Amino acid sequence: MQTRLLSTTQTTPFFFIRRLFSTVSIRPMAQANQNQAKDRSNLIPFSSRLREGRALAQDVWSIYNVANLPADCINLGQGYMNFAPPAWVTEAAETALRTVAPNHYSHPKGRIRLREAINKFYGPMFNRELDVESEILVTSGANEGQYSVFTAFLEQGDEVIMFEPFFDQYLPSVTFNGGKPVYVPLHPPSHSMNKATSNDWTIDFDELRRAITPRAKMIIVNTPHNPVGKVFTRTELEGIAALAEEFNLLVMADEVYDCLVFDGKEHVRIANLPGMWERTVTVGSAGKAFAATGWRIGWLIGHPSIIQPTLAATTRIVFCTNSPLQEAAAAGLEQAKERKFFETQRQEYLERRKILTDVFDKLGLKYTKPEGSYFVLLDISDVNFPEDYPFPQSVLGRGRDFKACWFIALEIGVSSIPVSEFYCEDHANIGEAFGRFAFCKDVDTLRKAATRLEGLSKYIKRIDT
Ligand code: GLN
Repeated sequence: MQTRLLSTTQTTPFFFIRRLFSTVSIRPMAQANQNQAKDRSNLIPFSSRLREGRALAQDVWSIYNVANLPADCINLGQGYMNFAPPAWVTEAAETALRTVAPNHYSHPKGRIRLREAINKFYGPMFNRELDVESEILVTSGANEGQYSVFTAFLEQGDEVIMFEPFFDQYLPSVTFNGGKPVYVPLHPPSHSMNKATSNDWTIDFDELRRAITPRAKMIIVNTPHNPVGKVFTRTELEGIAALAEEFNLLVMADEVYDCLVFDGKEHVRIANLPGMWERTVTVGSAGKAFAATGWRIGWLIGHPSIIQPTLAATTRIVFCTNSPLQEAAAAGLEQAKERKFFETQRQEYLERRKILTDVFDKLGLKYTKPEGSYFVLLDISDVNFPEDYPFPQSVLGRGRDFKACWFIALEIGVSSIPVSEFYCEDHANIGEAFGRFAFCKDVDTLRKAATRLEGLSKYIKRIDT
């Protein structure tokens, strides 16, 4: 597959503008007929920062939301589980709700029980005792933690390097804080490659180096990766670390899927590489770990020189994170090892992954076998659909993948997420070839989805490889 050259600018694509004007009506007051009643529909202009980072565009999660799709459509789109957190974790939440203190504000650093549990669980993985006062920060989900890091460290115009495909939330989080995203695509396996794994998505290190300008301040490294499932290798992380050292970059290691690494692959924490502790903040998530994505409990681990300014930011953004669910997350981390929770969960996810990959094999469709996280990227280039299909406005003017995913959701009854959403406009063509199917669902649901997906066979027409 051809990939276009690296882009360091983000222009607002026309379709975002169009959608902006379809959701927000802007009428020049000066042109209003003096005799008519004053138009009061937009008295107060909203901030120009909303015009950046695609903030006003309809997000992909709402377009492919269950609410927009037929009621019986199986949701393999937005990545959340259709099963409950473990009972021993929710019981801890119930206990916390029945106790006075955890119904009130927590310390902005996070509840001490959770910070201690994080130290006990993660300390050995970082080969150090973590200082619960200065090296751990509990945040309102990983998202808010990342946002607070951007607030704490970005000056207007500072550049943040992110690999594409990138988790969509990074973009507005950077631009809201005055930063400028710089995109470096991971290079996908060629369409002709059989049995590609997430490891076949590669970094061109010359391209990465060229992307680093004197304004570069940060680089985001998401491993295991959403949506590719890539678990960055030690060699790749060493290459990134060397560049971070050379150009004095802050590294945001988004490792929210760290409990989901498969196939004997090693999850290397970039913070552990020589010299990296002082310039890396590692992001974690109770939502991914304990099937509780709505709890919004996340954490940051790093050197005090990174955590302390971030604490100052988060304190002024949310003040503190919800208290009872911090207690529950603490219980989860405290008991996980003894219960062999993550080992069991990993096995369960392997079975879930296999249901999806088996059906794609049966169909003869190419896909990326993920070595981590819970997404399979299906190459949808061979899936054909009628151009005159009644697509909704929200997917028109977007990449081919938006149409393909919509068509599959409506005709096959299984939803997925179009991957071009995770690219800048200049590189969207790379993502257009893929639909992302999440397998964080129970086995029965995935089997039902697989049976439906067999129906794709009648829409498959091979293209030249
Ligand atoms: N992280 C989840 C995913 O990638 C959900 C993202 C969201 O809803 N903002 O599917």
